Amino acid sequence: MRIAVLSDVHSNLEALEAVLRACEEHRAGATYVLGDLVGYGADPNAVVDRLAGLPAAHLIAGNHDLAATDRFPLDWFNAAAAAAVRWTTERLTASARRLLEGLEPRERTGTALLVHGSPVEPATEYLMPWEEGGAARSFDHEEFALCFFGHTHVPTAFVRDRRGRIRAGALQDGAVVEAQPEGRLMVNPGSVGQPRDGDPRASFLMYDTEDRRAAVHRVAYPVEEAQEKIRSAGLPAALADRLAAGR
Ligand code: ZN
Repeated sequence: MRIAVLSDVHSNLEALEAVLRACEEHRAGATYVLGDLVGYGADPNAVVDRLAGLPAAHLIAGNHDLAATDRFPLDWFNAAAAAAVRWTTERLTASARRLLEGLEPRERTGTALLVHGSPVEPATEYLMPWEEGGAARSFDHEEFALCFFGHTHVPTAFVRDRRGRIRAGALQDGAVVEAQPEGRLMVNPGSVGQPRDGDPRASFLMYDTEDRRAAVHRVAYPVEEAQEKIRSAGLPAALADRLAAGR
């Protein structure tokens, strides 16, 4: 089976629709969503409804989802992010709020451990591509062959071989990561709704459960439409500007 792995959609409906179209073309049989469904963008309710309606979906919460449902301190965020959280909280429908309230920042499926940040700190730890020390602590923290994580908005892989050596790196469009026999894998699909690796295209991952390969895909989407919605919603303009730069 092929599993689509999405993270950090951040209320960006235009990016999400482009990614879901691509997932259909790749014949995804299930979808994992690694948190931060909302925050930053202008379409929190539509994004939550769309993701909740996907067949065979596993959703977890990110720090923005927790904050939007009063389960995470607002002073943790920078000013623009906190303003977007407040804006989101005020506009969530009862059903979207109920759905977000039911999510936790980690979950185990039959295939993988899902966390937003890291196994050690599921809501908050950033595992950037160069943070092998953080990856080592994550591998040591608990038993898993495969872990999908998000939060950094940078497509990343940490591969640990059977001797415990870790290879780390950022992943470009088309990159394929494969676990060796007895090896362990941590992969971040990058961000659907607010990429931060300099490539403004939406990022996601397709994972094949048979050959245990994860492939990174980038898709273009109408960035200007998402920007226009953010500006006319009265959200901080910087949140619109950064989408074009992928930063
Ligand atoms: Zn995020």
